[in-house]
Amino acid sequence: MVDCLFCKIINKEIPSQIVYEDDNLIVIKDIQPVAPTHLLAIPKQHVENVADPKFTEAGLANLFFDGIQKVAKELGLVENGFRIVANCGSEAGQTVFHLHFHIISGRPLSWPPG
Ligand code: AMP
Ligand code: ZN
Repeated sequence: MVDCLFCKIINKEIPSQIVYEDDNLIVIKDIQPVAPTHLLAIPKQHVENVADPKFTEAGLANLFFDGIQKVAKELGLVENGFRIVANCGSEAGQTVFHLHFHIISGRPLSWPPG
């Protein structure tokens, strides 16, 4: 078993603010929000990042995006827009090596990213 922050959050060993949970994923509030809405969608299975083949095996990616769609709709993020970001690898800014998609919304977002 890897020593993983997000596995501990999923197992409720570390507290978090959960906004959505189903059999496949959990969506929590980011502890250091960069926008009025900043959530992290995290698969319950320990997958390192988008480059990890486990993400696309057994339909996990599809179930995962089902959850993101549901949350975006339920929280009213669809009308004004939202951004999902998955940092993949250290040079891309990944600091927690358990796959997570940032869901960022609630202010105008610039492009390109830093
Ligand atoms: P990344 O840098 O893309 O790997 O994103 C990791 C994210 O996890 C950062 O935005 C952190 O603010 C967030 N984070 C770290 N620890 C926690 C925690 N205990 N609860 C919620 N979010 C966290
Ligand atoms: Zn993990």
